Amino acid sequence: MQKTIDNDCPLVLRKTLYVSLFAIFILSLLTAYSYYWNIDHIHKEKLTLALAEAKANWNKDAAFRKWATLHGGMYVAPDERTPPNPALAHLPERDLVTTDGKKLTLMNPAYMMRQMTTEFEKKYGIKGKITGKIQLNPVNKPDEWQLKALNLFESKKVKEIIEQQTIDGQPYLRYMKPMYMTKGCVKCHGILGFKDGDLRGGVSVSIPLEQYFLTASETGRNILITHIIIWIIGFLAIIFMAKIINKMLTLMSHEAMHDCLTHLPNISLFKNRLKQALNKYQRDSNNKFAVCFLDLDRFKNLNDSHGHSVGDKLLITLSQRISKLLRPGDTIARMGGDEFTILLDNIISLKEAITITERILDSFKEPFIIDGDEIYTNTSIGICLSSEEYNDVEEMIRNADIAMYRAKSSGKGQINIFNPEMHEFAIETMKIENDLRSAIKKNQLEVYYQPVIDLEKNRIDGFEALLRWKHPVLGYVSPERFIPIAENTGHIKEIGQWVLERACRQTQDWSFQFCPENEFSIAVNLSGVQLSEHGIHKKIEDVLNQTEMLQTKLHLEVTETALLGHKEEAQAIIKKIRNSGISLSIDDFGKGYCSLTYLQEFDFDILKIDKDFIQDMGPDGKGLQLARTLMLLANDLDMKVVAEGVETEEQLNLLKEMKCPYIQGYYYSRPLPASRIKVLLQAGCHDDSDLLLDQ
Ligand code: C2E
Ligand code: CA
Ligand code: CA
Repeated sequence: MQKTIDNDCPLVLRKTLYVSLFAIFILSLLTAYSYYWNIDHIHKEKLTLALAEAKANWNKDAAFRKWATLHGGMYVAPDERTPPNPALAHLPERDLVTTDGKKLTLMNPAYMMRQMTTEFEKKYGIKGKITGKIQLNPVNKPDEWQLKALNLFESKKVKEIIEQQTIDGQPYLRYMKPMYMTKGCVKCHGILGFKDGDLRGGVSVSIPLEQYFLTASETGRNILITHIIIWIIGFLAIIFMAKIINKMLTLMSHEAMHDCLTHLPNISLFKNRLKQALNKYQRDSNNKFAVCFLDLDRFKNLNDSHGHSVGDKLLITLSQRISKLLRPGDTIARMGGDEFTILLDNIISLKEAITITERILDSFKEPFIIDGDEIYTNTSIGICLSSEEYNDVEEMIRNADIAMYRAKSSGKGQINIFNPEMHEFAIETMKIENDLRSAIKKNQLEVYYQPVIDLEKNRIDGFEALLRWKHPVLGYVSPERFIPIAENTGHIKEIGQWVLERACRQTQDWSFQFCPENEFSIAVNLSGVQLSEHGIHKKIEDVLNQTEMLQTKLHLEVTETALLGHKEEAQAIIKKIRNSGISLSIDDFGKGYCSLTYLQEFDFDILKIDKDFIQDMGPDGKGLQLARTLMLLANDLDMKVVAEGVETEEQLNLLKEMKCPYIQGYYYSRPLPASRIKVLLQAGCHDDSDLLLDQ
């Protein structure tokens, strides 16, 4: 069984793999995007901080400058670091001497701020500079960037300039704002021609970015590590989820493709595999294969008698047993109920398919152990072999089914190979099945009667009622053909009741007319299906009451096969029937399973020896000995014997020698319609056997 499960999910696996790869791709994309967004954000943040620092420095510079300008500069004692400013040499008040003779020199705001920013740069690396296109002091000359900024300030459109630039190989954020003349500035700068309110130049601040970039790259490293961890977690989560989803999908696809009871492939998976086999065969006709259809014999009875749970367990056990008999690559599937199909792939010839199916049939000889009980069952198998005319898997399954049906109707527990005539047979069967429903209403059924001769009294003891059907198209259809169909459809219940009623009424008529002192008996065949019909004994009694027929004159015939599988129910019904005084015959005895225990268990009144034994009573046949044994057996069990199928005088004489009490057969009369029996009886033949000859 296992061999059928595994190969069915690669598609699911592939699909999950693609989805997982896609998910990993999206995860990578998102992680990368998030990483770059964070890095960019940090970079921008650092620049914003640097700018804030630049602005703070600029503001401080402006505040100091304003303060100094407001007070007209400041006087300090000149020294080496602060010599008198040559750029202010034009001012008479540049150098002063205090009353106590101490020398002082003027530091105008620019001079003071230059000194301060130089100190500041040395300590913190932040550059600050006042500059202008015209300057008192050549050290205030603008560099290229500052000159560009001054030009832009002249246009008055630009209020500040921010730019990242490399100075002496180091990154800096440069910030510059214009500076305008105030009254306080005129004192020193008026000499250059500036007036109050003029654009005198600008102050620029340059913040070294190296430290910012250093912390940014540290944060960046942390972010990178975090993102790598996130990616790995995401990756593992995807793999984990993929595994779970994969398991679920595999399970779901398995369930969708398998039978839940036996876990065998179901019909759709079977058809897939069959289609593959058919395609392979169409490419190369050496790839022969066969479709087998199995149906358990009498599974319904088993289910009814043992219960559904036993039936289910049996299906599981037998599917395991069959699976073990198949080759790797073969497929067994459950179609539903008790029907199975098998694909025998890559077979050499039909013979190989037959060998395998025979092995399966053989395996049914062993009992199935269910809940500790031994259960015997059997199966019928139909085989359909690959051939060029098949394009359709359905057709092959149907043909295997048809062959199985034939196997079943020709005795169950058999193998049958499909041939095209079977198809016609199946179509005819469907027609029969259909038309039989209305046969009674349309008056197409008729009961024929075959006399049963009492050899001792040399007269007609009674008749066996045998059904005839004249089909408008098919002509006379043999009961051997249509009775099994009626049994399958359950239609036999209505038909059987109809025959019983007709036969009893007719026999009573003849008894009153021709033999009132010793009424005729009537033997009516009772199908196995009728035996399981609810209230059947009541229906039979009703017929007897209506027709005023003596119970003992009604012989109900059942075959051994009809009893098979119905044992317990049948026993109960048969008991009721017998209790009401009706006689019971075992029909076709010896033909079927020939179980002697049946004879004891069912307490029959009459044993009907099957016609095959009688016809095999010639000098070379074994029939004579068997007939003799059966006769002795019947005597022992206190049963009457009717020999069926007596066709020749020789057979008659042998039976007479054996003291066989009753016979039935063509030798005396074929089954005849009621009208012809009436003629016979009118001629007084019922008590003169010679006259019955040649009818
Ligand atoms: P069966 O009950 O064993 O009936 C005897 C069969 O043997 C009849 O076939 C009969 O025509 C045939 N027969 C009688 N004498 C001879 C003979 O000397 N030589 C040969 N070769 N055959 C002989 P028939 O009428 O075709 O019926 C076939 C079977 O159909 C019956 O076998 C019975 O099982 C079934 N059947 C017929 N009528 C009914 C019915 O009303 N109800 C049921 N349930 N089954 C019926
Ligand atoms: Ca019979
Ligand atoms: Ca018979």
